[in-house]
Amino acid sequence: MSRSFLPYGRQSIDESDIAAVVEVLRGDWLTTGPTIDALETAFCDAVGAEHAVACSNGTTALHLALAAEGVAPGDVCIVPAITFMATANAALYCGADIVFADVDPDTGLMTPETLADALGRAGGKVRAVLPVHLAGQCEALDEMAVQAEAAGAVLVEDACHAVGSRWRGEPVGNCKHSRAATFSFHPVKTIAAGEGGMVTTRDGELARRMRTLRSHGIERDPSRHERQAGEPWWHEMQSLGWNYRLSDIQAALALSQLRRLDSFAKRRSTLARAYDAALADSNLSVSPLARTPHCDPCLHLYPVRIDFDAIGLSRADVMAGLAERGVGSQVHYIPVSDQPYYTARYGPQDLPGAQAYYARTLSLPLFVDMLDEDPAFVIDRLAQVLNG
Ligand SMILES: *Cc1c(COP(=O)(O)O)cnc(C)c1O
Repeated sequence: MSRSFLPYGRQSIDESDIAAVVEVLRGDWLTTGPTIDALETAFCDAVGAEHAVACSNGTTALHLALAAEGVAPGDVCIVPAITFMATANAALYCGADIVFADVDPDTGLMTPETLADALGRAGGKVRAVLPVHLAGQCEALDEMAVQAEAAGAVLVEDACHAVGSRWRGEPVGNCKHSRAATFSFHPVKTIAAGEGGMVTTRDGELARRMRTLRSHGIERDPSRHERQAGEPWWHEMQSLGWNYRLSDIQAALALSQLRRLDSFAKRRSTLARAYDAALADSNLSVSPLARTPHCDPCLHLYPVRIDFDAIGLSRADVMAGLAERGVGSQVHYIPVSDQPYYTARYGPQDLPGAQAYYARTLSLPLFVDMLDEDPAFVIDRLAQVLNG
């Protein structure tokens, strides 16, 4: 297979995926149909969840979870500084404020220590703590759940990177330690639907509220109301929701991809091991992301740590050198607290772990349809760039 450029991530679409979408196109339901229910049921099975609510993307998944939980103006949500900005934005959509937690400089993850520090800095009523499973890894969910509970808050996992990951032997998303977990089906994520999202929870009432809020807050269940007697058209808006629905077209793709999740996870782990081995053989002063204990990640990203200052090359130079050699790379993430909007709102933040993580991180290509030899190829090209 000849190929001009290896992107850092890309979807894997096979004939079964295409057939699944075409079947929906030939059917009766393009939205709010049976494929949504089928996807939600299959997702529950895949991650061991009791309830799963499909929605339009990973951002609306976060917003639905926090809104259904009752996060409101005056509340504080704790978000690690290293994440995609949607984690923080979702709390702001509810009118809450953010306190940014620092992260471990070697994993990019919030830890019990950095959470304790953030809880200590939080002025208002902490309502939710949002650990982000960066690159597919997670850490100390049980400890952080205890800390959150002691502060009167719930844990909402941003698991957008972590479908297929396991922690202490159990699938991420089963919500053993959290109120809810959120997922994204954006094409660079492990399961692609074009756009799509999911929230899982063990709390049936929370799931019901999320289903209502994803469609304008409209209530149709006659058992909950009296007014509908003799009015078959009856429906009632009890709360302000949104149109955060997923279409059946997207759900069909997500469902077909979900059937491939085990093979996706195996492939990602094979490729990551090939990267680890190539790096170990390379004598480069480049290290893989530090691994957390008790976690068997389905890696969404393959970030490496490079001491650009010691090497005497800027990250921009390294990315450009890789791109010239046909290798895409990306940075996950600029600390959200450094985004101009957040700096204007909260002022500059002193988060040394996040700064240290950000200064060194670079994500190398990782996706299911990479070839067996691609990791060695990428590390070889990285060596060319770093060795000048
Ligand atoms: C992708 C992502 C989101 C948002 O998902 P979308 O489907 O793009 O809205 C939220 N959090 C994290 C950590 C993500 O990577």
